[in-house]
Amino acid sequence: MKKEIKKILVANRGEIALRVMKTCKNLGINSVAIYSEADQSAPFVKYADEAVLVGPAPSIKSYLNQDKIISEALKLNVDAIHPGYGFLSENAEFASKVTDAGIIFIGPSPKAIEIMGDKLSAKNAVMEYDIPMVPGLNTAVTDVNEAKESAEKIGFPILIKASAGGGGKGMRIVENKDEFEDQMKRAVSEAENAFGNGAVFIEKYITEPRHIEIQILADQHGNIVHLFERDCSIQRRHQKVIEEAPSSVLSAEMREKMGQAACDVARACDYYGAGTVEFIYENDSFYFLEMNTRLQVEHPVTELISGVDLVEEQVKIASGEVLSDYLNNLKIIGHALELRVYAEDPMNDFLPDIGKILVYNKPTGEGVRVDDAIEAGMDIPIYYDPMISKLIVHGENRTDAINKMIKAIDEYDIVGVKTTLSFCKYAINHPDFRSGNFDTRFVKLNFSDPSILQADNETVKAGLAAIYHLNKMDKIDQTFLPSDESSWRKK
Ligand code: ADP
Repeated sequence: MKKEIKKILVANRGEIALRVMKTCKNLGINSVAIYSEADQSAPFVKYADEAVLVGPAPSIKSYLNQDKIISEALKLNVDAIHPGYGFLSENAEFASKVTDAGIIFIGPSPKAIEIMGDKLSAKNAVMEYDIPMVPGLNTAVTDVNEAKESAEKIGFPILIKASAGGGGKGMRIVENKDEFEDQMKRAVSEAENAFGNGAVFIEKYITEPRHIEIQILADQHGNIVHLFERDCSIQRRHQKVIEEAPSSVLSAEMREKMGQAACDVARACDYYGAGTVEFIYENDSFYFLEMNTRLQVEHPVTELISGVDLVEEQVKIASGEVLSDYLNNLKIIGHALELRVYAEDPMNDFLPDIGKILVYNKPTGEGVRVDDAIEAGMDIPIYYDPMISKLIVHGENRTDAINKMIKAIDEYDIVGVKTTLSFCKYAINHPDFRSGNFDTRFVKLNFSDPSILQADNETVKAGLAAIYHLNKMDKIDQTFLPSDESSWRKK
């Protein structure tokens, strides 16, 4: 039965909250923002048709405060809640509570979230569909000796993974049996701390993989389509920094094969909504990693090459509509790239660099999209993920997209905090990236000496920030200014 959605509360913050609200506006749906005390004047709050303070800055008291969010939603008569990514987006309990309160949860069923929320239960659920898996254990191990024995059978190097894992936490590579015990203890304690669940399992460590994931859409009537792949192989600390679509390594045949496998994974948990099935890929073989039961950070690259607004489709699916016919006949249009612009210092092991954004000028132009929710004068709060924005470009082909991206990076001015832009420019311009011939070791292999970036714009921008500060305080010391203009390379 079709239910009309006229008002959506977005249970999230930052760029993704704003991005969801923009689609709401296009669809003539009213949006409600929730915000913490740290986000009082954030752009996503100003953009929303209504906004409600849900608590103090720490997420546990605001963006994760399920009962408060639901009670505000009820007071404001919202029809549906969109959880974005992160926070409560993969929380089965929240999805249940929302539904029980008579509000539509824009996402899959609590059951599907639960099954796919645990890497081991996900593996077990897809077993009957013959989905290729990384060689390894399908059950949790607690006994170190037993685990070591299994690791030897699988063959080193192996990867210890937290069953409840996410964000690369609780993941340890073990090169040989001597390191095993120590690394297992670390993985268990990291998993306990991060997820309150110390269950770990073991997988063969694939040494030169690509991370390739498939976007799927499924309605509540059993129809499932895939919207091709995204290649997210450029990672630091097992976390993505650059994503693209399509992948430079997939043949049309392999794309279809992986696409069908992804649809089967969705089928295995009676999935509906937008979802992503992650695989690792090496030498023409692919292995199922996990399914993310929500909109991904990197969804815009799929939107640009498919022409589909994924949030719009999420809303339609949630309201009970059948997938539109056109989704069965999609063609890949050109090539898209996305950079995650983090307030992090690439020169210092990507440590967060929180502070005030003093200058913020973003690139514009045909095929350039910036998903952000910040403006000059704003602080990057310490409480949340330090992502400032996503810079996305769409080109006729991969080379065109790369060139467009470099131009866009050069036009992007962020002063006040260190960002990953200089690293991304270096990576995108690197011959290995340009050739399309790289794997998840890219950062390790090509970025062991971060001083490569020394001469790049971060240094200049840090200097400019200092000058800006001094200027503002009206205490500018002329001797501080560079005497030779040329030593301050503009970009
Ligand atoms: P998380 O949920 O913590 O993000 P994932 O299972 O999605 O963990 O894996 C994150 C990344 O770690 C992958 O993109 C890949 O680069 C790497 N990875 C995961 N499993 C393996 C494996 N068995 N061999 C090699 N790399 C892996």
